[in-house]
Amino acid sequence: MNFSRLSTSVIKGKHLTSEEALELIKTSDDDTFELIAAANKVRRAKKGNQIKLCAIVNARSGKCSENCSFCAQSAHHNTSVDIYPLMQSEQIVEAARQAEKEMNATCFSIVTSGKGIIRDGDIYTLQAALKSIAGESRLNRCVSLGMVSKEHLNILKEAGLSNFHHNLETSRSHFEKICTTHSYDDRIKAVKMAKEAGLKVCSGGIFNVGESLEQRIELAMTLKELDVDQVPINILHPVAGTPAAKDHHAISPFEVLRLIAAYRFVLPDKDIGLFGGRESSLGQLQPLMFIAGANVTLIGNYLTVKGQSAQKDLEMIQSIGLDVQTNAGQT
Ligand code: SF4
Repeated sequence: MNFSRLSTSVIKGKHLTSEEALELIKTSDDDTFELIAAANKVRRAKKGNQIKLCAIVNARSGKCSENCSFCAQSAHHNTSVDIYPLMQSEQIVEAARQAEKEMNATCFSIVTSGKGIIRDGDIYTLQAALKSIAGESRLNRCVSLGMVSKEHLNILKEAGLSNFHHNLETSRSHFEKICTTHSYDDRIKAVKMAKEAGLKVCSGGIFNVGESLEQRIELAMTLKELDVDQVPINILHPVAGTPAAKDHHAISPFEVLRLIAAYRFVLPDKDIGLFGGRESSLGQLQPLMFIAGANVTLIGNYLTVKGQSAQKDLEMIQSIGLDVQTNAGQT
């Protein structure tokens, strides 16, 4: 396949078929640099040289009723994850201040474990936090709260919510291998509800959880059909005590680069980022994620795993001639 010619067609508006995308993700190690160079052309054409930085706060941790096989926060697994209820709104706001001032984040997400909002009072805590963040910062305001009712989504939107995160996690055909306590349709429904509420939607998945290359492309096609705005790619960082950690095999950095590149070709106009598992899967090759097509990444710590320092991330972005996007000028 001529990757360079394909990148020109994609920039002009061609939509990839599943077969074409599969061919990309099956590229050999020898041809991977050629593939990512072509994906880089698509990223530059569609997203320029600016990299978006997202930061998160793990605002409620552990004790989740669901059994996602990769997740350290599930009550079904025996892990040593921290367990605490929803933080006070002022703690959440303080984390947002740090994200903006110390890490140059453009988007801040309040993430909670669990299937949805658990306690009645939690909606008011989240509402207060979002109002404060909207009032004092230029951050885009995101939540990742599981499944949320229409009524609660509207309350949060009125308080300043702009983005909603809800991963599909994997393809429909693989989903029941990684979770049996809720359905794929539940996840699709959450994404659709957020879109209907007028929010920007961030939805992606976790990889290296036993899925095939075909299933990686199946997920990309579903996300394309749903027309989500941003796609986070997470690579399993195995946590002792989770089922996914038992059969874990390391993924090669080249395989991760091919995955990002295939997603850039399938979803050329979307924001795509390598989030969880970035350091452990790419190691010294981390800057190449941007050449492979990523234009977003997560800065600071992950949910249950520490990330490399924000300073190191900012230096990495500059070292390959890219700029950090700011929200300057945004009201
Ligand atoms: S991924 Fe979300 S829903 Fe699944 S176990 Fe973890 S916190 Fe619960």
